[in-house]
Amino acid sequence: MPTYKIAIVGAGPAGYFTAQAFQKAQNEELTFSIDMIERLPTPWGLVRSGVAPDHPKIKTVSKVFEKIAKERGFRLFANIELGKDVSLKDLRDQYDAVVLATGASVGRKLGIAGEELKNSLSAAEFVPWYNAHPNYVDVEVDMSAQTAVVIGAGNVAMDVARILAIDPTELDPTDVADHALVKLKQSNIRTVIICGRRGPEHAAFTAPELRDLPKLENTDVFIDSNQIQAAIERIDGLEEIEKDLKNNIEAMKAIADQAKKGLARKLEIKFLSTPIEIKGKDKVEEVVFKKNKVENGKVIPTDETFSIKAGLVISAIGYESTSCSGVNIESGRVKNIAGHVEHNVYAVGWAKRGPTGVIGTNKSDSSDVVDLIIGNLKEPKDSEGITSLLKSGHEVIDQTAWEKINASEVISGEIAGKPRVKEVDWKRLISLGRS
Ligand code: NAP
Repeated sequence: MPTYKIAIVGAGPAGYFTAQAFQKAQNEELTFSIDMIERLPTPWGLVRSGVAPDHPKIKTVSKVFEKIAKERGFRLFANIELGKDVSLKDLRDQYDAVVLATGASVGRKLGIAGEELKNSLSAAEFVPWYNAHPNYVDVEVDMSAQTAVVIGAGNVAMDVARILAIDPTELDPTDVADHALVKLKQSNIRTVIICGRRGPEHAAFTAPELRDLPKLENTDVFIDSNQIQAAIERIDGLEEIEKDLKNNIEAMKAIADQAKKGLARKLEIKFLSTPIEIKGKDKVEEVVFKKNKVENGKVIPTDETFSIKAGLVISAIGYESTSCSGVNIESGRVKNIAGHVEHNVYAVGWAKRGPTGVIGTNKSDSSDVVDLIIGNLKEPKDSEGITSLLKSGHEVIDQTAWEKINASEVISGEIAGKPRVKEVDWKRLISLGRS
C-alpha cells in the first residue's frame, strides 16, 4: 500500500482543511503521511490571530482542527519558517507534494498622500495586535482622539470598527490580547466611521455580521437611510436580485431604521466616499474624501469633497501574499493555475485565490486541490521528510508541545473568566511547549 508524504506549509484553516481532504481520500490502496509546517509556535492561523475576539462561535472550528491533528499520519511541525529554516526546494525533494497554505498577511495600500503618517495603520497590523500575534505586540495604536476612520466596506473593516466602538468591558470575557484590552480601556475614541467607496449594494459585508450590529448594547450604529433608500431604488431596477444582496440591504435598512439610544459610543457606516488624502502634521488629524455617485450602475466621482477630523485611520481594504523561498507572486497571491504552482508544489486558501471567502470556503477549495494533487501523484518518494532538513537543536513545537501551550492558555483563561489568555511572547510560548 503506497504512503505518500505530504507537506502542508501553514497551519491555518486552509492548511487543516487540506489535511482533512487527504485524510478523507485515504483507502486501502492509498495512504498519506501529513507534515504540517508552521512559522509560528502556535497553529490555527487566522482562527487564532484574525477572527474577532467577540466572535467566539467562529473560533469553535478549532475543535475540528484538533480532530484532524489527532488522525493517524498527521504531524505538526510549528516554529519552522519556510525560506529560513527550510527551503522550498528541500521540501519539494523530500515530499511527494508540498501545499502552500501560507495565506495573505500584508495589508493592501491605499496609495494616497499621508498614508505613511503616524496612526495610519493597516488592519493587517491592527487585527493581529488585538489578537495577540507575537509579531505585532509592539504596534503603536494611539487612541487619544475622539474619532477613528476605518476604510473599506468588508467584514474586516466591520470587525476593526466594532472593536474600536464597543465598550471595552464587553471584551473582558474574551481572548482579546491583554495589552490591547488595557489600551482599549484607556481609549478616548467614541465615534468610529466606516467609509466604503461604493454604494450599499456593492458592500462586501455579509448579512450575519451586519445583523449583529443592532445588538450592540453600548454603541449606537448609524447608516444614512437616504443612502439605503437610493440603493433600494437602484436594485429595484435590476432583473434579478441575488439573495445575499437582498439580505445585506435588509440588514442595512434595519440598522438605518433602528431607534438610537443616544449612547456616547457611535459607529457609522458611510458609503460612496473615496479617501483621497490623509492630513496631519506629525500624525493623522483628518481624512479627505471625494464623494461618489452611482449612475447607470457605475460608481463615478463627483466634484464634491468632504473631510472627517480623526486621530486614527485603519485601512481594511484587503490583503496580499508575500513571496517566501522564491515563490512567484502575481496579483497579490501565489502564482498558480487551479492550485498548481510548479512541479509538485500547490497552493490553497488565500495564497491560492486571494483574500476572499470565509473560513468554510476553504473546505471545498482545499478538497478540489487535493483531488488535483492525487491525480498528479507518481511513485512515492523514499525520503525522510522534514526531520532530515532541520539544523540539530532546532526547537520544534509538535502536537504534544502545542497541546501543552493550549492547556496552559486555557487554564489561565479559566482563572480570568475567559476562554483563554493568549501568550504573546515567542520564547515563553516555546518554553510552555517544553514544560
Ligand atoms: P473584502 O471583503 O474584499 O473587502 C474589502 C473592502 O475594501 C471592499 O469594500 C473594497 O471596496 C474596499 N477597498 C479595496 N480597495 C480600496 C481602496 N483603494 N479604497 C477604498 N476601499 C477599498 O476584504 P476583507 O474585509 O479584508 O475580508 C477578507 C475576507 O475575509 C472576506 O471574504 C471576508 O468576508 C472574510 N472575513 C469574514 C469574517 C466573518 O465571517 N466574520 C470576518 C472577517 C473577514 P470595493 O468593493 O469597491 O473594491
